Amino acid sequence: MQIPITLLFASNNLHKAAEINTIVGLTCKIITLREAGIEIDIPEPHPTFHENALEKSRTIYQLTKKNCFSEDSGLEVKALGGAPGVRSARYAHDKATDQENIDKLLVNLKEFTDRTACFITVISLQFDGREYFFEGECRGQILPQKRGSAGFGYDPIFVPDGSTLSFAEMSSAEKNLFSHREKAVRKMLSFLQSK
Ligand code: IMP
Repeated sequence: MQIPITLLFASNNLHKAAEINTIVGLTCKIITLREAGIEIDIPEPHPTFHENALEKSRTIYQLTKKNCFSEDSGLEVKALGGAPGVRSARYAHDKATDQENIDKLLVNLKEFTDRTACFITVISLQFDGREYFFEGECRGQILPQKRGSAGFGYDPIFVPDGSTLSFAEMSSAEKNLFSHREKAVRKMLSFLQSK
């Protein structure tokens, strides 16, 4: 039996960690910052997902010198010119709740008939002294109001192409059949398994 690869996950987002754990199963042992006893809030000041993800993984690598990865993700809405994008977590304001972000998005989208959107995930991996990126996306539609109570972020207002359910009406395993995060994590897993 192969020994699982251990990776530190450079994030404090427990929802993301839970989703990633469902995807990797026993292939990888994922250790969150909290589990590693690291208390840090890494800023995301850059205009691209790649730069923000890289900043997070580099910060944790420099601190620990351990193999680690980060992910930066967000929702791009076509009619809003790609907003909220890299500012998805802070769309309404710097300390916004998910509800405040959803409210602002629904108000801003009210006058548009085109409600197409895309979730993006970029993973930055620091592995054996080298840096790698893995990307995933999931296209879908923004609902006029919230549906479901599972998940996090914009899950209650996003229906992925190929489903009639919002992400918040799905279990973690069902969401993973469509999710941007799942696609990026799978690419990282294939890479790690080839090592
Ligand atoms: P960050 O990667 O920490 O900058 O946060 C990404 C933000 O994008 C989250 O706080 C959510 O608002 C949103 N987001 C990213 N992925 C998802 C998802 O899978 N479902 C719902 N919202 C998401």
